[in-house]
Amino acid sequence: MNCADGRRNVRHGGAEAMGLNHHVRGSQMSQSDSVDEDVQAFLPDQDQLHTYDDLTKVNPVTPTTVLKCLQARYRMKVFYTHAGCTLVALNPFQSIPDLYSLDVMKEYHCAPQPQEFKPHIFIVAEKAYRNVRSQLEPVDQSLVVSGESGAGKTWTSRCLMKYYATVAASSSVLKSQNTVKRIERRVLDSNSLMEPFGNACTLRNHNSSRFGKYIQLQLDRCQLLVGASVQTYLLEKTRVSCQPANERNFHIFYQMWNGGTDEQKKQWMMSHDQCFKWLPNSEVLIEEDCFQDTVEAMDHLGINAEKQQQIFRILAGILHLGNLGFSSSVDESQPCNLDEKAKGFLHRAAELLCVSAEDLQTCLRVQTLRAGKQNMLKPCSQAQCIVRRDCLAKLIYAQLFEWLVIFINKSICADKFSWCNFIGVLDVYGFECFHINNLEQLCINYANEKLQQHFVAHYLKAQQEDYVSEGLEWSFIKYQDNQSCLDLIEGSPLSVFSLLNEESRLNRDSDARALKVRLEKELCGNANISWHKFSQVPHFTVAHYAGKVSYQLEGMVEKNKDPVPPELISLLQKSDNQLLQQMFSQHQTENSTKGLSKVTVVSKFKNSLESLMKILHATTPHYTRCIKPNPECKPLMFKKQEVVVQLEACGIVEAIHISAAGFPVRISFKSFVQCYGLITKYSKSGSVRVDLEVDGATTLQSEVKKIISVVLQEHFSEPSTALVHCGNTKVF
Ligand code: ATP
Ligand code: MG
Repeated sequence: MNCADGRRNVRHGGAEAMGLNHHVRGSQMSQSDSVDEDVQAFLPDQDQLHTYDDLTKVNPVTPTTVLKCLQARYRMKVFYTHAGCTLVALNPFQSIPDLYSLDVMKEYHCAPQPQEFKPHIFIVAEKAYRNVRSQLEPVDQSLVVSGESGAGKTWTSRCLMKYYATVAASSSVLKSQNTVKRIERRVLDSNSLMEPFGNACTLRNHNSSRFGKYIQLQLDRCQLLVGASVQTYLLEKTRVSCQPANERNFHIFYQMWNGGTDEQKKQWMMSHDQCFKWLPNSEVLIEEDCFQDTVEAMDHLGINAEKQQQIFRILAGILHLGNLGFSSSVDESQPCNLDEKAKGFLHRAAELLCVSAEDLQTCLRVQTLRAGKQNMLKPCSQAQCIVRRDCLAKLIYAQLFEWLVIFINKSICADKFSWCNFIGVLDVYGFECFHINNLEQLCINYANEKLQQHFVAHYLKAQQEDYVSEGLEWSFIKYQDNQSCLDLIEGSPLSVFSLLNEESRLNRDSDARALKVRLEKELCGNANISWHKFSQVPHFTVAHYAGKVSYQLEGMVEKNKDPVPPELISLLQKSDNQLLQQMFSQHQTENSTKGLSKVTVVSKFKNSLESLMKILHATTPHYTRCIKPNPECKPLMFKKQEVVVQLEACGIVEAIHISAAGFPVRISFKSFVQCYGLITKYSKSGSVRVDLEVDGATTLQSEVKKIISVVLQEHFSEPSTALVHCGNTKVF
């Protein structure tokens, strides 16, 4: 990743940066309008707005009314609100222990009808849990948690896992105040281990997950938690060698730096008079910097002291690599020299990684080129040496992360005969639009398109069920989903991914302009792609469901190839560090002789996403949309403009539009009578003499339906009758 790309510093600036207006497709809510529009006319009971537990009950459902309602609730410290089949979770940015205590868990778990309680993440958790018990197809459940960085996805996922570790554990856990133990403990520990390796302090979140994760909690026949398995997605490995301005590297490095004992630091060759380039902002201490917790999690999961030592020496080795600098060589036939200061670091890095210092130096400075059947050695330029150094660090770190995930799975996964159902928790990065967007954003936004499509299908189904149970026809809802955008990105034979892969497989220096011409020629038929005529930068703009994003083509092909020089792998295979040896023993080198790897980044990501979608399709989904009320991460501060952008990005606004494609206003008979009882008094029909002002419950529902239908017919002449329908319990 290019460090200067401003990533994560600027949100929603991509389109403007390219001289385009930020346009949000499919929404009436653009940056400037509507947010402050006066909704008084729609919402006579403004004082009561905070009492709406379900956003779909706000009348009418518009982005503005929804926003007002959320704001009113946030002000009253109500952080959860239903939105039909979705739960909206506003980040309180303050600790509220009473909201998540063991007693509260017990209350939701033991209630006959938890959905009648105040909206809470435990309702979602409990509903999924009961669905498993009911054995209605599909029995397995998925809890999809989404939202932008810092919105609270990981916090919510942890909360869900704690809930199951408690209610699905042996009954003694609920009765006593003991902390969870055994497998439940280990499942929670898997988080405590993955986070320091996969999370980092960014400008938007001091504990930002730099990878996506789907964890399946395995339940036995008695619905007890007997194990779990984790799948991770797209670790941001570039952070190891390149930390954006004012951000940090992964937590684990700081934990070692601040939490290691003197003895350990001696073994890791880290003394405080050294300055590690890949450890910026080490003076910023955050609550996640607890080395002891990580070591404890390793202990619990069964990573023994020897393995731990190997892991920490590898990490220390990576830090030392960061201090290797190269001076440019005057004579191109000679390799660049290491900076004088760097020599000590080279020796220490080699010692920590258990490789020969000479071999390490050689493979950073000399490349092997294949000419026919022969190999030729060619000195690397200064820039190439740096690329190789960074590549080595990223390679080791990514492989170590993968090894950890495999280890965790071995430690927590139940054997296949002991579990029968699962509840999956998905915590993935939300829609991203920065000042400059590249391959990472394309992958992330593609994943969000996929999830959005899944959500829309599910939402439409839920709507359909509502209409059917109310005895309404469904056929009137026409809704265009985001398939054409997905076709543009991943379709075959021609799509952004296929053209990118084609370019990546050609062994030539990538040319962003040539690629742009190709995309323009091949994909111009898709309405979701466009180009800004006057932009000097080769790019393409995709109209995502959540808004337009411009992606820069410079460097995209190279990122997609993610080449690994084979010499680096050979070096690591020869390491005396047992763990390194093990990690790279299966690694193939032969195909990458030309610096090409078989599988490109996008095809790997597409495959892993396809497997995820298959799992999601085979489960009953539950959606939680986390919202960050302000970018400053301050408690009780609600910034409307920030929130509305997120409502767009997480699909809530889209859901509102779907609901508007049907009947956005649904009024129970009782409320209808309360609101419009007066009209019925002046009805021409004698049959409406029944006093509708009495409690609807005392009149038979079918009777009420008949009366209301008559009233509607009398007061709505064609064609407006098509706009009003009378269901079995509600007026639509
Ligand atoms: P990223 O995409 O960067 O990983 P995220 O959506 O996972 O972001 P979290 O790390 O879960 O965000 O949340 C950010 C911070 O917000 C947490 O560290 C915590 O301080 C606070 N937070 C989130 N949810 C809650 C909550 N329900 N109660 C109290 N604090 C919360
Ligand atoms: Mg997170």
